[in-house]
Amino acid sequence: MKASQFFISTLKEAPADAEIASHQLMMRAGMIKKLGAGIYNYMPMGLRVVRKVEAIVREEMNKAGAIEMSMPVIQPAELWQETGRFEQMGPELLRIKDRHGRDFVVQPTSEEVITDVIRQDIRSYKQLPKNFYQIQTKFRDERRPRFGLMRGREFIMKDAYSFDRSPEAAKASYKNMAQAYRRIFDRFGLRYRAVAADSGAIGGDLSEEFQVIASTGEDAIVYCPQSDYAANMEKAEALAPSQPRLEPSLALTKTATPDKSTCADVAALLDMPLSATVKSLVLATDQLGEDGSIAKSTVWLLLLRGDHDMNEIKVGKIPGLDKSFRFATLTEIEEHFGCKPGYLGPFNLLKPVTLLVDRDVAVMADWVCGANVEGFHMTGVNWGRDLPEPALVADLRNAVVGDASPDGKGELAIERGIEVGHVFYLGTKYSRAMNATFLGDNGKPQFFEMGCYGIGITRLPAAAIEQNHDERGIIWPDAIAPFTVVLCPISPDRFPDVKTASDQLYADLLAAGVDVILDDRNERPGAMFADWELIGIPHRVTIGDRGLKDGHIEYQHRRDSASSQIASGEALAFLK
Ligand code: ATP
Ligand code: MG
Ligand code: MG
Ligand code: MG
Repeated sequence: MKASQFFISTLKEAPADAEIASHQLMMRAGMIKKLGAGIYNYMPMGLRVVRKVEAIVREEMNKAGAIEMSMPVIQPAELWQETGRFEQMGPELLRIKDRHGRDFVVQPTSEEVITDVIRQDIRSYKQLPKNFYQIQTKFRDERRPRFGLMRGREFIMKDAYSFDRSPEAAKASYKNMAQAYRRIFDRFGLRYRAVAADSGAIGGDLSEEFQVIASTGEDAIVYCPQSDYAANMEKAEALAPSQPRLEPSLALTKTATPDKSTCADVAALLDMPLSATVKSLVLATDQLGEDGSIAKSTVWLLLLRGDHDMNEIKVGKIPGLDKSFRFATLTEIEEHFGCKPGYLGPFNLLKPVTLLVDRDVAVMADWVCGANVEGFHMTGVNWGRDLPEPALVADLRNAVVGDASPDGKGELAIERGIEVGHVFYLGTKYSRAMNATFLGDNGKPQFFEMGCYGIGITRLPAAAIEQNHDERGIIWPDAIAPFTVVLCPISPDRFPDVKTASDQLYADLLAAGVDVILDDRNERPGAMFADWELIGIPHRVTIGDRGLKDGHIEYQHRRDSASSQIASGEALAFLK
């Protein structure tokens, strides 16, 4: 590709609504363009990344024996009424009507349609197992679309569905997919963890999420550094249902910063009755001034468990501080941060666990939480409106839970992740609801055993950027970079040898199958380098007149702080 024939459109500043690095950088690098809330154009540069993600996923899915097909984006409501999801799914499901007043949905996922296809076309156990997948547009009317492609309303998902004759066979299909997912995520070149997830009503442990590790992730992962235990927060809680709870005051002293006040002090300070049933967010401090004032740097957010009548204590004043604070219930916080209802509790771990609800709130399970709110602006505390600074929980990223892991091999720790994939054993949930059967080897009809497997195709590039960027821009892993190599000739219009050498290297690289872009825009070197660093091309080759005369070109990896010289004759072999 030649840059002059491609579309490159970079921005110096990110739009104000872009809150996290991936969103800012994808906008600035001209990869996406907003059309509406949670709805984006994939611009040419961004689409190349999406296509590379798709290609890897497609290749590994095919290798794992899955079969590609494509299901309609707009689906008749009847199928969704059969499973009850048309009503159950709530406002996240986009429902539309055609000119005859018939109901349709825009697919958020496709269990109903695939089950309908299979119940018509698969009759015998002899045709099983089968696994069908599609890479297709999805729509979810997210309560809080945000962070660009990270949580869009329209997005691309790879969704696969396995059909088997027995639970054992279905579990084998599940394991096969879980393995394929490891191969896929290994190929992306990102740090990730496969974590046990809640498998809902079906029970068992056949649900895993694939989480890309990033401090801005919306999910919290509990893991054991000494073993391979890893689970998402909901699952970790579910595992420890009957552990005794810590006394509140004890929990507070367990937090990372030494505190001088107890929860009772805090409660007294806030004039708030402290009981096991308190369920609200309050502000507290570990350093009370003699006049009862609170030092900015030592404010803690406390999340109290239990019910509390918020009408009683909607707005409170902290003595010594000329500010009023809003108190929020768990539900309000969940809504505010777009968590699932019930996400915040009850927590039942033995010792405090940091639960990172969002970038800006940290909650210790068993009720005391903490963010040692460095960078936290008292004036910004207004739950339900302004979001505090991301730095709020920076401290807590590595907060160690200090609890023994369920496998007994070490202590639990917490980190944050971005859910990029999910594998799930479904059992007969959908086949039963839709009366989808095949004839078993005993000649009797049986319900299909199913599994479903998703990958957030367009979320993945955003997750990759959260993990790989610096102050100059994106740093793509080779596997999903829009181009792997960029050639930057310096003033080719003035130096014919530069033009000849770069054209030649470009042609050679193309012939060798390297995904290369030649920057023939005649930009100044500074502007040219700034663009490619922002866009994040991993390998850059600079071809200048002086270097050529000395017989070399300059090579710099996007992570390198300086370039190195490569003999002109060896450039091709080096870059291949
Ligand atoms: P989340 O917990 O982030 O809302 P989910 O659990 O609802 O995701 P799944 O139903 O498991 O999502 O869908 C499979 C995959 O689709 C997810 O693992 C994620 O990578 C991706 N995905 C889900 N919702 C979105 C979205 N709004 N924008 C982009 N990708 C998404
Ligand atoms: Mg969701
Ligand atoms: Mg999820
Ligand atoms: Mg999921």
